[in-house]
Amino acid sequence: MFDSDSDREKNAPGAVAPGRPPQDVSAPPVDTRRRAFLGTSAALVAGLAVWSWRKNSLLRVVAATSAEPKEVTVVLFSDAGQRLNKVGIARVIKTEDEWRKQLSENAFDITRRADTEIAFSGKYWNLHGKGLYRCICCDNALFDSSTKFESGTGWPSFWAPIAAENVTEIRDTAFGMERTAVACTECDAHLGHVFDDGPEPTHLRYCMNSASLRFVKQT
Ligand SMILES: [Zn+2]
Repeated sequence: MFDSDSDREKNAPGAVAPGRPPQDVSAPPVDTRRRAFLGTSAALVAGLAVWSWRKNSLLRVVAATSAEPKEVTVVLFSDAGQRLNKVGIARVIKTEDEWRKQLSENAFDITRRADTEIAFSGKYWNLHGKGLYRCICCDNALFDSSTKFESGTGWPSFWAPIAAENVTEIRDTAFGMERTAVACTECDAHLGHVFDDGPEPTHLRYCMNSASLRFVKQT
């Protein structure tokens, strides 16, 4: 009865007897090298596991929308905020490289990887001008300043989207929390989350990332 190692040694050139053949002493035995490699690999895997866990948690939100139909329905709005017609249009689908070329690193991480900007760091949390907010990725109209309110959270907050069709709500269980993520219907950009502690008339709080939005001022 021979195990596979013994078989290899028996068949190795220069092997004269069962057991480990004479070795070149300048090279560590195979087993030692393998252990060293495995040790290094274990450290790398542990590091990658932590990194992957976070990224996978974030990606889950984005991936949830990947099986959506290729055509979506949205309501178009002029830059002056006028509601135009409801249309069926092709979903905007781009590669990661294409999104990276179009977006800042911060906007990419937030819209395409469901990251969240630091509170009070974005450019719109304290903006109260009249206008509408479009998707930074595809220009779909998302929110109107008439529904914006001061939530005190450090993120731009709205009590309703500009049109229900234009945003998509997705169950989000990342980080062990049960939340509802909000995405752009047209391009799946992650926008933020919606909570039920908002003001009247809806009692909803659409807590958005500034980096997902592009403000169009109305004059
Ligand atoms: Zn979009």
